[in-house]
Amino acid sequence: MTEIQLAGSGGWVNADLNDEQVTKSKLVPNIEKHFLSSLEKLDTAKMLKYFCKQCDSEFEGPTQLQIEEQPNEVVADGLILIERGQYTCHKCNSIIGEYRVFQKKDE
Ligand SMILES: [Zn+2]
Repeated sequence: MTEIQLAGSGGWVNADLNDEQVTKSKLVPNIEKHFLSSLEKLDTAKMLKYFCKQCDSEFEGPTQLQIEEQPNEVVADGLILIERGQYTCHKCNSIIGEYRVFQKKDE
C-alpha cells in the first residue's frame, strides 16, 4: 500500500492504494499526477484525509459518499456502469471528486 494524493474537481483525497490502483489513477503514465475519477469507488477505510476547496481546509479521515445514480447502463464493450456518485465534504457537502463503478458484462 502506498499513500497517494488523488486530485478531484473540488479538492483532493489522500488514500492508501495498491500498485494496480496507483497505475490506474494516472491519466498519463509518465506524469506524476493521480486522479480520483480514474479509480472506482474508494473504500472509505483507505481514505486518510481530504482537502475541500470550498472550506479551504484539510480534514482527517474519509469524505462522505453520495450515490447519484445506479443506472445499470452499458457504456462500452462488455462494460456496465452500475453506480455513479461523488465524494463530498463532511462540513459543507460540496463535491471533492467523482467516482464510477463498472461491472463486466457476462456474455
Ligand atoms: Zn467543505
